[in-house]
Formats: sequence, C-alpha cells, structure tokens
Amino acid sequence: LASRDAHPESSIVDVSGVKIGGGHLGMIAGPCSVEDPDRMFRIAEKVVASGANLFRGGAYKPRTSPYAFQGMGEDGLKLLREVGNRYNIPVVTEVTDPRLVELVSGYADMLQVGARNMQNFALLTEVGKSKRPVLLKRGMSATITDLLMCAEYILSQGNMNVVLCERGIKSFDPATRNLFDVAAVPLVQQLSHLPIIVDPSHATGRPDLIPACAMAGLAAGADGVHIEVHDCPEVAKSDGPQALLPEQYDQLAGQMKSLAALL
Ligand code: PEP
Ligand code: MN
Repeated sequence: LASRDAHPESSIVDVSGVKIGGGHLGMIAGPCSVEDPDRMFRIAEKVVASGANLFRGGAYKPRTSPYAFQGMGEDGLKLLREVGNRYNIPVVTEVTDPRLVELVSGYADMLQVGARNMQNFALLTEVGKSKRPVLLKRGMSATITDLLMCAEYILSQGNMNVVLCERGIKSFDPATRNLFDVAAVPLVQQLSHLPIIVDPSHATGRPDLIPACAMAGLAAGADGVHIEVHDCPEVAKSDGPQALLPEQYDQLAGQMKSLAALL
C-alpha cells in the first residue's frame, strides 16, 4: 500500500485543513516538550508569525533515563489543544503506548510515532485504526525498507494518512547527534507515494547545523521541515541544546520560503 507502484500519484495528507505533500509544505515547529502555559503560548505566537503551519510539543516523552522528565501527560495534551485553538493551528504530539492512542487522538490533530517506537507494531496497529493522520519517524537504526514496512502496518489498518520523517540515523561520530540521511528523501519518494519531511533538529542536535540541513532537505525535495523551537533553551525540559530560538526560526523560515518558491 505504501509503494509508488501501487499508487503512482504523490499522496497529500490533510491535517485538519493543513496539507502536506504534492507541493504542500508542512512547517512543523514547537518545543520538544509541552511545558508551562505562558511559554507555550509565547512560542506558538512566534512560530505562527514566522509561518509554521503545525505546532508540536511532546506530552509523553520517550526518555533515555526513567528519572528524566517524562512529559506532562494529559495536562500537556490539554494545553497543546488550547494552544492549537488559540492560534488556529493544528497540533502534533507523540503517542508512546498503544493504550494512549484513543486519549491522545482526543486532543491532537496528528499523532507522532517517534524513532524509538517506529517498530512498535502494537502501536502502529493502533494508530492505524485511528482516524488521525500519523507522523512516522524513521528509527535511528532503521533501513528505508524497515521504515516503509512500518508505514505499511498503519496503512493496512485503513489509515492512509501517513507522513514519513527522516530524523537522522546512528553513526560512529559523536560530532552530531545523528547522521542526517538526506538521500532518504528522494529515495523514499521513488519508492513510495507518501509524503516525507525532514527533522534537522534531531538529525544534527546542533542549532548551528540545523539551517543548512533544513535547506538541504527542502532542496532534496522534502515535503516539510520539523524544527524544535524554544525561547529559553537553557531551561528547556528536554532537547534544549538543539532548540532554535524563535528569532533563529524566523530567519530560517524566511529562507525556507524563498527556497520553496524556487522549487
Ligand atoms: C521528538 O520529536 O521530540 C522526538 C523524541 O523525536 P525522535 O523520536 O525522532 O527522537
Ligand atoms: Mn525532541
């Protein structure tokens, strides 16, 4: 079902009115974690003004340590919904457990399956039964075939609204958090009709490298760009070191729009 042979035309995924794919760019921005309300509204106001068309924030965080901040849970979902309503922007958030799919679907416009859960088949099956579009991130050690087969788990349950995301794969070099596989974009587009976006934030882990990789992703044909933005990265509950400041996102968003106009 994911294959381009089966479906030659590029798919367009509609997230509560915002289209991704077939020439429509998903500009996803927001903090790694949902945090306190004032900060959320502040960040959202800024990224919306810069041109973001989807707001992100994790309420259930897949953390390396069980003692690290795990997310605000349902309170975070409620807050994210309020932000979405106030700024009239659809919201995307990660769902980490099949038992949470129904709850998260009640608040979010799009469900994110994170890299660590890409091959959680019970979760894929459950989001496949949901009516919400899904953002499926490539696992950090997953091949392109693995990624497409995981999309297949979702599609085969009847949910055809899947957007793929290249977010970097493991490499030997700790200089960057992951290795940004920009070739994944045109390769996935050859093999599949599903939209694919890039996430240079998790791919590089470094604000100084994010703009170049965002532009490279778009130049390679990506259907959107996912970027983490925080107005005070030093106090962020997660992924502060890779966050762009709202001003930096604004500058990059301008550059991305200029590039997209040329493509
Ligand atoms: C995230 O989007 O904050 C996240 C945890 O992403 P990934 O699953 O790609 O690591
Ligand atoms: Mn993150």
